[in-house]
Amino acid sequence: ARRYFVGGNWKCNGALEFNKFLIEDVINKLEFDPAKVDVIVAPTTLHIAMAKVMVADNVKVASQNVSLYGTGAYTGEIAAEQLTDFGIEWVIIGHSERRALYGEANETVGTKVSNALEAGLNVILCIGETLEQRESNSTNDVLKEQLDACKESVKDWSKVVIAYEPVWAIGTGKVATPEQAQETHAYIRQWMAENVSEEVGAATRIIYGGSVNDKNCGDLINQSEIDGFLVGGASLKLAFQKIVSTAS
Ligand code: 13P
Repeated sequence: ARRYFVGGNWKCNGALEFNKFLIEDVINKLEFDPAKVDVIVAPTTLHIAMAKVMVADNVKVASQNVSLYGTGAYTGEIAAEQLTDFGIEWVIIGHSERRALYGEANETVGTKVSNALEAGLNVILCIGETLEQRESNSTNDVLKEQLDACKESVKDWSKVVIAYEPVWAIGTGKVATPEQAQETHAYIRQWMAENVSEEVGAATRIIYGGSVNDKNCGDLINQSEIDGFLVGGASLKLAFQKIVSTAS
């Protein structure tokens, strides 16, 4: 059986006082069995150090992004090897906000994934279609292109968690139905079986993201293809405790 995985993506939210509350009163009071679920939180880059010092041992801190390049003259960036040097084990790559607002094309995502893995990071690879793409029945084609762009980047899929995050569900309150998520996750697993191997397809964790909250997480986690969540808004609230306990 695949171990569950729940990530809290704080996006560009947080401040010293708020993070202290969130870590002390929400994160460090999570009840879960680390043998059954990985719990990861991704603060802003500025707040990574704070979170790393403050979170309980069973919670890992992730970066929300990583540089396309190594160390050197790249103002404003953080290189994969700097994250590993700092003791960070996970990075989110290819989030739809980075794709849409910061021009990250599939090719860029593929390069970031390979740099991150080479530096020893584990990757949460985000993929997902827009509403227009879903309505024109091209969801699977879009996901295939996003996955194809990372195929050569990954040598060891055990270091990768795939986050299926339909763009239309992110921050909108319009969660995918459990059936929609199940069906799409099944397609992703089929891609893995065809492009990597049946075995890797069966072992890779595929998590769902997009308007997950304490009310809808139960029905979603009951789906056999859903191995956990990447949570945005609800990871900044007490609701995160319910979401984590649902997946453990
Ligand atoms: P919301 O949970 O706020 O919809 O965000 C999902 C997301 O983008 C997580 O990466």
